[in-house]
Amino acid sequence: MAGALTSHRVDLMAGRLTDWLKGESGAHPAADALAELRAAKEAAEAANEAKTRFLASVSHEIRAPLNAIYGYAQLLERNDGKDALNAARVIRRSAEHLSHLVEGLLDISQVEGGALRLTREAIRFPEFLTQLIDMLQLQAQVKGIALVLSLSPGLPEFVHADPKRLRQVLINLLTNAIKFTDRGSVKLKVDYRNQLATFTVIDTGIGIAAEDTQRIFTPFERVGGAAAKQPGVGLGLAITQALVHIMGGDIRVESTPGAGSRFTVRLMLSQPLSPPIEPAPEPGAVTGYVGRERWVLLIDDDSAHLAMVRRLLEPLGFQVRTASDGETGHALAAQVQPDLVLCDVALAGESGWDVAAQLRRRHGAAMRIVMLSGEGPQSATIADPDGPANDTFLMKPFDFTALLDVIAAQLGLEWLRTAGTPSLAPALVSAPLPAIFASRAAAHCAEIERLVRIGHVRAIEAEIDGIAALTPEAAPLAEQMRAVLDSFDLKALEALARAVQADAA
Ligand code: ADP
Repeated sequence: MAGALTSHRVDLMAGRLTDWLKGESGAHPAADALAELRAAKEAAEAANEAKTRFLASVSHEIRAPLNAIYGYAQLLERNDGKDALNAARVIRRSAEHLSHLVEGLLDISQVEGGALRLTREAIRFPEFLTQLIDMLQLQAQVKGIALVLSLSPGLPEFVHADPKRLRQVLINLLTNAIKFTDRGSVKLKVDYRNQLATFTVIDTGIGIAAEDTQRIFTPFERVGGAAAKQPGVGLGLAITQALVHIMGGDIRVESTPGAGSRFTVRLMLSQPLSPPIEPAPEPGAVTGYVGRERWVLLIDDDSAHLAMVRRLLEPLGFQVRTASDGETGHALAAQVQPDLVLCDVALAGESGWDVAAQLRRRHGAAMRIVMLSGEGPQSATIADPDGPANDTFLMKPFDFTALLDVIAAQLGLEWLRTAGTPSLAPALVSAPLPAIFASRAAAHCAEIERLVRIGHVRAIEAEIDGIAALTPEAAPLAEQMRAVLDSFDLKALEALARAVQADAA
């Protein structure tokens, strides 16, 4: 553009100005302005260079998955569907990678452009951290490593924070730790003193070489041979560091190759002066549905699971029939023409997928089928392509609201709900236990609280048995818990579990 102030022209002008100033009178106040001008120019050039490097990296990162999509799509066009499954998988993975990339880039541009506005909410601190760890437990289990949360005793119940951004920081660090650890453990340790929260993520993984510990915070830098084999785009730590800085904190890493890494984030998180007002109650519990009566057929060789789902669905107005094998399932399906079939994937001696495929052939698409599986996600995806189309898949143990969501989606149901006032928690009937048993009962109850959230009824029963076995004095408490569990009032059970823990504290 004519007359544009290119850096070359700035140089020329600055050079001439300097000569002129020197010739005139040596030192001059204008020389300071000149130095400032030079510094600003250098900074602008450095920023420009960084931007160019960043764009080059972005293009490179986008090109690899795009090439894969392009190549495999052409392959699909050309051949007769051979390897179609493999091609579809590569295309899906590449598309996922691209979408992570776009999300990451949007995050970075928001942070860098100053468009990110932090919220400030009072959050229940220990609960927030526990939920976060629960969320990642499955990922750790799949890798066979322990995921541990260690909270220091003085942790406040509430702190002010931006929950979304704090969660993002901790999830980035924890998923990295899980990703780069093949044996041992990952631990999140949280300390709090004088408004300063210290989060330490410690893993026993592959570690990072000393010369790489700063590089890893740069976008797209992935270090060591192992990173290439892991999913990821190399933006996580750049975003994490930027978020921590915006929140006014700092992040550092110490690591020993072969032994593990330790990422430490420090943030000022103030405590609210008074306990915050509780959020509005959740939508009321589901009590039924609009429209004609629907029939549900459950096929599962696990009698406890059959009983549990029946106990959940019948009070909502469903007609429920149960079968423990495929043959009984087919007979019942022919008899009652259910609207929905919930079928376990692994029935004794036969595949639930085969049973479902046969049901689909005999009864057509009007009969909705949802597959349930207690196995790991890998086996689910292996089995999936052979399964009948159009069906949904649910992992056991599942959250009951997730089951209800799937049922509503499959049958196009509208739920009837209570007014939204939570049911009153039953009072503890048992006399307080002696201190030693009280603390052990509290540990069982903490586990029950966690299990209630995923609706793992058999594991809850085992925990209640554990309480009963502590001491004969715990029998009334165990009885009360069993009664609440039998009536399937999980909210009340959660409240009881909390009350026992509060008593023991
Ligand atoms: P990504 O995980 O997507 O590759 P990140 O920015 O989160 O991107 O991490 C950058 C790199 O830092 C990783 O590729 C890996 O080489 C290294 N790294 C991060 N966390 C760890 C860890 N806990 N242990 C070993 N290496 C790690």
